[in-house]
Amino acid sequence: MNVQKITKTITSAEIVEKTVGIYEEAVSLRRKIHEHPELGFEEYKTAELIATYLQELGIEVTTGVAETGVVGILRGELEGPVLALRADIDALPIQEKTTVSYKSKNPGIMHACGHDMHTAMLLSAAKILSENKQYVSGTIKFIFQPAEEMKGGGIMMVEEGVLSNPPVDHAFAFHVWPELPTGVYGFRNGPMMASMDTFDVVLTGKQGHGAAPHQGVDAIVGACHVVTALQTIVSRETDPVDSAVITIGTIEAGDGYNIIPEKARFKGTVRTLNENTRKEVQNSIKRIIEGVAAALKLEVEINYNFTVGYPVTMNDIKFNEHVACIATDLFGENSVQWMSKPSMASEDFAFYLDQVPGTFVFLGVGENPEEPMKLHSDVFLPDEKAMIRGISLIVGLALNTTEKIQ
Ligand SMILES: [Zn+2]
Ligand SMILES: [Zn+2]
Repeated sequence: MNVQKITKTITSAEIVEKTVGIYEEAVSLRRKIHEHPELGFEEYKTAELIATYLQELGIEVTTGVAETGVVGILRGELEGPVLALRADIDALPIQEKTTVSYKSKNPGIMHACGHDMHTAMLLSAAKILSENKQYVSGTIKFIFQPAEEMKGGGIMMVEEGVLSNPPVDHAFAFHVWPELPTGVYGFRNGPMMASMDTFDVVLTGKQGHGAAPHQGVDAIVGACHVVTALQTIVSRETDPVDSAVITIGTIEAGDGYNIIPEKARFKGTVRTLNENTRKEVQNSIKRIIEGVAAALKLEVEINYNFTVGYPVTMNDIKFNEHVACIATDLFGENSVQWMSKPSMASEDFAFYLDQVPGTFVFLGVGENPEEPMKLHSDVFLPDEKAMIRGISLIVGLALNTTEKIQ
């Protein structure tokens, strides 16, 4: 294991003490953000709150990155690498059904993925670090990113240069994770979350009377065969020890008992854990749709649109182990859990990890991991106490990454 020595300028116990000291403020920040959720690329008030908070700490702030993103820069007083710490700030189109006093005041919008907590933890860590600049080696970039949920705010931030000026050496982010007990960190070397792509298909046959199928070309039967044949990509074409998921989430065709419809539409998503499999699955989907459709005379028109989405979230082994070492130093071995498998969900922090070595860590927020609540649930209520461990790890990482890990 290649791990840097842990600096003793501030001990782990002191970091935890400072975090405990700021906990009440972190909770009220999180609740304020929770109360006023905003959808991706519309996080204007959230961005204003973040920018004001950072400016009051004396941190250099740039707003309007990728529309509503905010970037803060803290220059430490010691030489060292550039570390990017990222929190996503968007909420979801969900009507909140919890009964907490700080429930969403914006109808139909809810922080149901814990991004309110990510934001509050990073702001709180920024506060502690700005008060301890004399111990900070190098530069810390605080990246508050909009539109993580399906809109790819991450790639926009990267394209707008968030990883340059100054060039970032390592990137780090959390996701709250209900399947882990409160405060437990979930680490994994290599793939942490899957790639995510989507596709839309329209099959066009020939409309006809339900009693005279020979005079039409049935788009429904065609779509059923195509969807069934797509299942063979995972079962027959993908290496059994590799992983892939193809899910058809929508299928639409027809509107009657006795009419053969002309068109059938379906859409789906693909998840994989490496780029080769990702490309092979994309090619197989196209081949099967075209082949099966042609066999069933649906040659009139096939509209196939494959949208390349998020890459695999790939953790750098050396940096990941460095972070795990800091976590162990802060809260002991039991606070670290090595995940045996990656999640087949996806995450646009992958775009950062595509460019620079870094890591994405899960933070347990489930009070009852045996029966965990779900992300994106309308009653999602993560355990706020986990923020102590979250903030401590961010601060510990910033203070203990004194040179580039390679
Ligand atoms: Zn989410
Ligand atoms: Zn999320």
